Amino acid sequence: MQKRLLMTPGPTPIPGDVLLAMAQPILHHRTPEFKGLLKSCGDDLQPIFATNEQVLMLSSSGTGAMEAAITNFCRHGDTIITVAGGKFGQRWGQIGRAYGLSVVEIEVEWGQAVELSAIEEALNEHPGARGIYVQASETSTGVRHPVQGIAALCRTRSETLCVVDGITAVGVEPLEMDKWGVDIVVSGSQKAFMLPPGLAFIACSEKAWAMAEQSDLPRFYFDLLKERKNQATGQTAYTSPVSLVVGLRKVLDRMLAMGVEALHEHHDTLARGTRAGILALGLKLLANPPATSVTAAWAPDDMDAGDIIKGIGQRNIKIAGGQDHLKGRIFRIGHLGWFSQADIIATLSALECTLADLGHEFSPGVGVVAAAAVFEGK
Ligand SMILES: *Cc1c(COP(=O)(O)O)cnc(C)c1O
Repeated sequence: MQKRLLMTPGPTPIPGDVLLAMAQPILHHRTPEFKGLLKSCGDDLQPIFATNEQVLMLSSSGTGAMEAAITNFCRHGDTIITVAGGKFGQRWGQIGRAYGLSVVEIEVEWGQAVELSAIEEALNEHPGARGIYVQASETSTGVRHPVQGIAALCRTRSETLCVVDGITAVGVEPLEMDKWGVDIVVSGSQKAFMLPPGLAFIACSEKAWAMAEQSDLPRFYFDLLKERKNQATGQTAYTSPVSLVVGLRKVLDRMLAMGVEALHEHHDTLARGTRAGILALGLKLLANPPATSVTAAWAPDDMDAGDIIKGIGQRNIKIAGGQDHLKGRIFRIGHLGWFSQADIIATLSALECTLADLGHEFSPGVGVVAAAAVFEGK
């Protein structure tokens, strides 16, 4: 009998009432009941996305919405600018190249945020760029990119969209789509939305929709103009992921009952506690500045991060590792969605036990105490 704790930045744990709702007998997707449900979810996603624009739902993991954010807005031969400072930033480039676009990648050291001057330089060199594609929170490194500043740079350029992968930022930290002038925001169900994987979200500005009318890249399933028309009436173009939408209704009830601001504050507290705990143990953080969704830390120099992840796993807590050149060097603790302060304390405690086993020197309990002090507001 093992109680396991999932502390990864996606998929994330699912609250019991959401699981129960999804276990109900299936609704047919072409009924008034389902139409009302889909429509209400679309409406209630708007405050979470900080937009008055329609938020569309797609049946896919987050990458499907990323692909749609390219295929629905770009034209043959277009240039796009991407920020390649991690696994997900690189994905923008991979998708762009798959559709024959010319991709200008801004290389950023993993763990660092892109400099606004680098964005401005790329824009000046490629004034016709169709869009800047960036992550608000680059989950592979735990870094936060300066989306507000990037949006400000795009705002004055009528031909360039600011496209933000907010998959681990929406519902976690402020990402003011309308206020900042972000043109496209995408997200996904298995992160802050506390749902199984399989549902993606995308919201688009008026400027983006106007550019969608000119787009001529091939697409079929992810046709956003078609989805926009259908979803305005509570219908998806093809069969809806009915159970996920039923679960989403419960999640949105939870989020809105808490309030968007309190939701962000809650995540901020968990993130600050986690960081304080890790620093108190004498470890270093990877990201500068750190995002709120996930904390990435370097393993001590003489240690393989894989051994830390394994040791924590033996204590029934699943955390994530690094990717590519950071594999074996960093570990990542997710804290977006259905997480509590107690989960963070338990994880830090398991980290302490593991580090002690592996011979790292620190005074036992300091990590946990530092996190608790943050949670107690001290
Ligand atoms: C999880 C995630 C994605 C989407 O990945 P999928 O596996 O397609 O859901 C994209 N971007 C970021 C920043 C993510 O964290």
